[in-house]
Amino acid sequence: MKLKKTAIILSILFIWFTSAGFTYFNGKKIIWDKEIIGISVYSEFLLPPPIAVPLWAKNSVKIQKDSFNKDAPTIAIIIDDMGVNKFWSRQAENLPAPVTLSYLPYAEDVEKYAKYAKKLGHELMLHMPMEPDASNIDAGPFALKTTNSKQDFIENIKYNLAKFDGYIGINNHMGSKMSKDENKLSLLMQELEKRGLLYLDSRTTPISLGEVVARRYNIPTSHRDIFLDHVESKEFVKNSLRKLEKRAIKNGTAIAIGHPKKITIEALQKWLLEAKNKGFNIVPVSEVIKLRIYEEKYQKQLLVSAQNQPLQ
Ligand SMILES: [Zn+2]
Repeated sequence: MKLKKTAIILSILFIWFTSAGFTYFNGKKIIWDKEIIGISVYSEFLLPPPIAVPLWAKNSVKIQKDSFNKDAPTIAIIIDDMGVNKFWSRQAENLPAPVTLSYLPYAEDVEKYAKYAKKLGHELMLHMPMEPDASNIDAGPFALKTTNSKQDFIENIKYNLAKFDGYIGINNHMGSKMSKDENKLSLLMQELEKRGLLYLDSRTTPISLGEVVARRYNIPTSHRDIFLDHVESKEFVKNSLRKLEKRAIKNGTAIAIGHPKKITIEALQKWLLEAKNKGFNIVPVSEVIKLRIYEEKYQKQLLVSAQNQPLQ
């Protein structure tokens, strides 16, 4: 009899506990958590509920808050095409962190060098080969192409992403044609979303859809502002760095992409010091993307509150 009574009370309690996503205990809201061991447990009885940290955030290089001036313009430098030109890639790795380094997945021994760069404090990206407009230019083995079947396309993404780890996300290598293919970009973003990675558009075409599609999948995204070295001259790189400073002053942030070349690395060896002395924040690219996302949210809030103001 006593056993039956206990069973009824326990059943009622069980139904009451499980009937909602949360309940109250000692006046505290307790979140129902079915995940932990698959039976009736509540997070606060065990551990606090785990906060899912996306991979890009886990792999990002954290900035020193005391060396960051929130009122100063902020710049991120990415060196991509990393790993193919051995000598200048090593020189890029020896630039002071946190210059962000983006490695081509098909570069020889890419895993070894990415690991080395990470140890030196650089933030890492994977430089995803993508089809360019010019049909006579090859973006490299396993490049993502508009002509790939859906299955081949997804397999190529997975193959490339598996070449090394520790990166925050990808930026496109070439890809002026791929960046205009909405369907293929959607497949790419779905894969990035699953893995918690971000997308930086190198903007190899002014009409890229990369960021638009990334946003549909809630992927942190932004774009390159300045290419440092597409003209092979010292003077050009110097001018690009000047443009970069101006852009950062005007917009608050700026992202540059350079390459492992003599003219670029030698210019950066000098400029990185100068820029710090001039008061610029030099940060890993994930930091600029975060700043831009906060800024966008802030602007949206301003717009909403302005729209909600009664008309005078
Ligand atoms: Zn590239």
